[in-house]
Amino acid sequence: MIDYISALPGATGLPPFPRRLCVLGSTGSIGESALAVVDDHPGQFEVLALAGARNVMRLAEQAARFRPRYLAVLDEAGAASLKSMLPSGYSPEILCGPDAYVTLASLPDVQVVLSAIVGAAGLPPTLAAAKSGKIIALANKESLVLAGHLIRRACRESGAVVLPVDSEHNALFQSLAGHNGDDVDHLILTASGGPFRDWPSADLANATAAQALKHPNWSMGAKISIDSATLMNKGLEVIEACWLYGLPEDRVKVLVHPQSIVHSLAAYRDGSLLAQMGQPDMRIAIAYCLCYPLRLPLKIAPLDLAALGTLTFREPRTDDFPCLDLARRAVAASPAHCVALNAANEVAVELFLAGRIGFSDIARAVEWALARQESLDDPDFMTIMEVDLAVRSTVATYLTGTT
Ligand code: NAD
Ligand code: MG
Repeated sequence: MIDYISALPGATGLPPFPRRLCVLGSTGSIGESALAVVDDHPGQFEVLALAGARNVMRLAEQAARFRPRYLAVLDEAGAASLKSMLPSGYSPEILCGPDAYVTLASLPDVQVVLSAIVGAAGLPPTLAAAKSGKIIALANKESLVLAGHLIRRACRESGAVVLPVDSEHNALFQSLAGHNGDDVDHLILTASGGPFRDWPSADLANATAAQALKHPNWSMGAKISIDSATLMNKGLEVIEACWLYGLPEDRVKVLVHPQSIVHSLAAYRDGSLLAQMGQPDMRIAIAYCLCYPLRLPLKIAPLDLAALGTLTFREPRTDDFPCLDLARRAVAASPAHCVALNAANEVAVELFLAGRIGFSDIARAVEWALARQESLDDPDFMTIMEVDLAVRSTVATYLTGTT
């Protein structure tokens, strides 16, 4: 019953080392962790392309270190200031604008694309990588939420391979490897529960962005940290799992596991639960994807189970954190509902980070957008972009009274 999103070639069908990488979102949390893995394993990778958005200074430092042939940033001004910061004698091709990320993701020389841009902006280059037959180390879960059906189809047509970087999906990938997909009964995603998991219901409306950004176990970018606090991250991950593993949402369960050691579990029909465990450090999942099917030695403290002593699990508080069930509702409704869910969430999270709306307004905005969304079963790329834009605009007006 598991129908994986892409073909999985054996070791001989995969590129040899050093593998040629394109890192999209290199200046972010995932991008930095990936480059730390690359740095620690000389000779295993060649960084061919790096792409960031506005943190041009950090991108210049990374470029000086790895000397990729291609760089991409959001706009002309960023490109000019990036150029001025590069060491003399090194002149890579610098591209800019949204199309630049698509170009880098499809470069013929690139073998592995790490898709680690945050949000819907990650979709065009991820889809381009899928259409160009790349190995995609996929961190940008939003691209599957928006267009899982298109990415699935593109992988099947081009032979592209998707390897999940998201720790839960990576754990499932490892727990399913070598087993018969027909023997799987359901999947269990674990969730830390976020910083508010033990807060009384009455206090949640007053939660601030600064409190939401303090994740108990993981160090991540701002958007995913807020998504973890609302449980929208787990909702997006349920949708991600549906598209990756070809399952309906009621076969993807969620358990809160505050220690973030068991990263997810596959439940088989004989009652066996297979899990992957490890420190909450994204380098493990990233390195596994970049080197698949090999494993690298990583500079991460071994997991000391005796010192941990206790691992606990409990049901999520879905009444207090409605975003998880809203995501389930969206994926059961239609792909267009998933686009609306994501767009409304991105707008609301930005406004919450800016201190303009309250914590509970995020779920309220998503519910409002879902209620207004018409069903579309197989939207093409342009339609997805149109729904995304339209929902962003109406939700911004709904939340702030202005466009
Ligand atoms: P981040 O905010 O730290 O970094 C985002 C990166 O994307 C930066 O390099 C930024 O410059 C770039 N970027 C932002 N907007 C862009 C745009 N419009 N066009 C091009 N580039 C743009 O985010 P992150 O925490 O590294 O997360 C990246 C993705 O990985 C997200 O989809 C997130 O859900 C997923 N993910 C992250 C983690 C984690 O531990 N951080 C874990 C699992 C999955
Ligand atoms: Mg995750």
